Amino acid sequence: MNIFERITKQKVPVIIFGAGYAGQVILNTCIDHNVEIAAFCDNKKNYSGQFMLGHRIIHSSELHDLFPEAIFIISAADINDVVIQLNDLHYSQWHAGGDILKFAEIGKHKYDTEFSFLDYAVSTCIQCHDAYQSPDKLFLRSVDIVITEKCSMRCKDCSNLMQYYEKPVNYDAAELTASLESFFSHIDQVNEFRVIGGEPFMNKHISETIDWLNNQEKVGRVIIYTNGTILPKGQTLECLKNKKVMMMITDYDELSKNHDRLIGTLDEHNIEYHTDKAQNWTDCASIKEHNRSIESQKEVFKNCCAKCLFTIMDGKFYRCPFSAHVDKLRATPLYEDDYVDLLSSSKELGHKIKEFIFNKDYLNSCDYCVGRFLSDKKITPGIQVSEPLKFKQYS
Ligand code: SF4
Ligand code: SF4
Repeated sequence: MNIFERITKQKVPVIIFGAGYAGQVILNTCIDHNVEIAAFCDNKKNYSGQFMLGHRIIHSSELHDLFPEAIFIISAADINDVVIQLNDLHYSQWHAGGDILKFAEIGKHKYDTEFSFLDYAVSTCIQCHDAYQSPDKLFLRSVDIVITEKCSMRCKDCSNLMQYYEKPVNYDAAELTASLESFFSHIDQVNEFRVIGGEPFMNKHISETIDWLNNQEKVGRVIIYTNGTILPKGQTLECLKNKKVMMMITDYDELSKNHDRLIGTLDEHNIEYHTDKAQNWTDCASIKEHNRSIESQKEVFKNCCAKCLFTIMDGKFYRCPFSAHVDKLRATPLYEDDYVDLLSSSKELGHKIKEFIFNKDYLNSCDYCVGRFLSDKKITPGIQVSEPLKFKQYS
C-alpha cells in the first residue's frame, strides 16, 4: 500500500499542517493522487480564515472544535516541533510531508513564486523529514553564521540587535573558518547555512567563508541574506556563482538603494536569488530583564519560534540570534550555559553540542527577551534610527 492509500484508508479528514510553499505542493500532489484535503492548519494567527488554493486555513487553536478527529500531513520543515504540538493536542496520526513531496510534479501546477524557490522549499522539507526519520545522524535544518556586526542600515527593530552596537566589527575570516571546522567535526549534515550580519557584504572577506561552505560536503545550500544596499564585486561576486549559493534579498524600498542593480548583476551571472519586501516583523528586539520564574522562562522558550535559529558567532554556538547578541553586547550577565564555545579544546565538545541541541529547555537570556511567537502582532519593518540604542550593560 502506498502512502496515499494509507492516508485515504483512515476515512478521517486530512489536514496539511503548515500553509507555506511546501504545503501548497503537498496539496496539489495529494489531489493528483486522489487524496481529498479538508483544510490547512497553521500556527500563524494572521493566516487564519484565509484560503490557500481554495482550501481554508485554520489556526491550530481551532483544530479540536472543527476537526476532533483528523490525520495530518506535516509540511513544516521543523517537523519535530509539529509532532510535539500534535501530541500535546492529543492527535496521534500524522505523516511526514517530505514523503509525499517525493511524488511531486512541481512544474505541473501554477504557484505564485519562481520555480527555483519552490524547488528549494520542497527539497528542504524532504531533507528535514528524511533526517527526522533517521535519527542516527546529527542533522540540522539551518544554522546562521554571523560574519559581521556592521550593517549599512540601522533598523530600530532589527531582530539581530544591530541597533545596539556602538562599535561594530567584522569577524576575522580565519576565526570563522576555525569555528566552522570545529562545528563540522561533530555534525553530520546542515541543510542550509545562512551567512548573515548585519549586512554580510560589509565584510570584505566574505568570500573566504562562502568558499569554505561551498566546499563543505555536509552543507546543502549556502544562503546569503542581504538588504540590497551593496553590490558584490570581484572575489565576492565570484563565490556567489557556486550552484549551492542562493541570495535572499530583503527589499526595503528606497532604503535598498541598489536592489534593482543587484538583481541585474545576479541575473547576468545566473546566480539564484529570491527577493521579498521586508514584512512580518514583530516587536522582539527590546532588551529588558523580566525576572520571570524558571518555569515561565521554560514556557517562553517552548513557544518561541526562534529557539532553533542556531547561530555561530565569534567562536560560539548559540540557540538563537537574540542570545548571541545580548551575550556579545554584554547586555546580560555572563551565562556560560547559554552557548557552546566552539574554540575550546574540551574533549567533551561533541557531547556538549548534542546536549545543547537536544536537551536545552530554556536559556538564561530568555529572561531578557520578549520572545518570538507566531501569534505576535506585526510591526512596521525597517524604521531607521540615527544613533545606537541604549541598553543596560553588564561588566
Ligand atoms: S538591514 Fe536592518 S534588519 Fe537587516 S541586519 Fe541591518 S539593521 Fe538588521
Ligand atoms: S525567548 Fe529565548 S529562545 Fe526565544 S529568541 Fe528570546 S532568548 Fe532566544
